Amino acid sequence: MASASRLFSDLEVDVLADAPLGPLTWFGIGGRADALVRPRTVEALATLIARCHRDGIEFRVLGDGANLLVADEGVSGVVVRLDQPVFRERKLNVRGSVEAVRAMAGVSLPRLITDAVGAGLAGLEGLGGIPASIGGAVRMNAGGGFGAISDSLHSIAVIDRRGEIGVHPASALELSYRHASIPGAIVLWAAFRLEEGDPVALRDRLKEVMSYKSSTQPLAGHSAGCMFKNPPARSGEPGPRPSAGRLIDQAGLKGTRIGGAVVSPHHANFFLVEPGATAGDVISLAELVASRVEDRFGVRLEREVVVWDRRPVEESS
Ligand SMILES: Cc1cc2nc3c(=O)[nH]c(=O)nc-3n(C[C@H](O)[C@H](O)[C@H](O)COP(=O)(O)OP(=O)(O)OC[C@H]3O[C@@H](n4cnc5c(N)ncnc54)[C@H](O)[C@@H]3O)c2cc1C
Repeated sequence: MASASRLFSDLEVDVLADAPLGPLTWFGIGGRADALVRPRTVEALATLIARCHRDGIEFRVLGDGANLLVADEGVSGVVVRLDQPVFRERKLNVRGSVEAVRAMAGVSLPRLITDAVGAGLAGLEGLGGIPASIGGAVRMNAGGGFGAISDSLHSIAVIDRRGEIGVHPASALELSYRHASIPGAIVLWAAFRLEEGDPVALRDRLKEVMSYKSSTQPLAGHSAGCMFKNPPARSGEPGPRPSAGRLIDQAGLKGTRIGGAVVSPHHANFFLVEPGATAGDVISLAELVASRVEDRFGVRLEREVVVWDRRPVEESS
């Protein structure tokens, strides 16, 4: 990247040029970034965002890489990772204020849940077993059968493209199934409204949620969780969204394989990768599965997994 030294040289950041991104994702495959940048301060992050915007340099943020597929050709520009200590800070208030937990974007969601449960704070335990950073969990509105992160979200801070920090109440965001509108380039922190609860009962509930998840999903393999969102219910039909996994299963696609990518025989919406798999295998398999489901049921599945490739950020999904 030609203007790298102008971007970073005076900032408190660690930079790795031509950085492999695959190992930072749960799939474990995919290409490289021109620069992987790990800011050491919020100010450095904000300045970097503003400079990338000013210079027209692609800017992306990587969380825990649990919902991400990086294309084999990699991505151009800057990828930021929020893993330095300042982005791992969290504050728990056990005296039951409105905002009971505030966590920086780089905090691990599973770790925060364990801490909240241990402190007798109820509200996040239904998200047990979901791998995520707080920033990624808010951006994806992560959740499942026991609720979504938006259920207890109180407010978020974001940094916009000019590098300015703004705080937004959850009520001002558009939060829906696996979707959150983020009014800025990056989530900086999130605050949660939690209730006081009994730590022992909360721990039991968390164990229950996690054992349900591990009995229904192939958590040990390399995947990014569900490949597709559950499609909307047909208009006029009441009740929950139909399960994308069930549609894929009913189309007879469990175990379907392209190269080293395979539809899990255990849970049809999980795509697993085996040694030697490429991101191209996963993308081709997703296209094949979506078109077979559409042929069979007339339902077009929308990908839940985010794909990063050489297209500009706005066009990638
Ligand atoms: C085994 C397994 C099980 C899973 N089960 C579930 C489940 O039950 N429910 C569920 O909802 N998901 C599930 N997932 C998917 C994944 O856990 C969630 O989507 C999670 O929210 C991803 O968070 P992340 O930090 O890993 O984000 P990443 O995968 O790193 O990034 C995903 C998107 O979020 C953006 N992002 C990351 N950090 C920020 C930030 N600070 N600000 C703005 N944008 C940001 C990225 O740019 C990218 O667009 C599962 C995944 C795996 C591997």
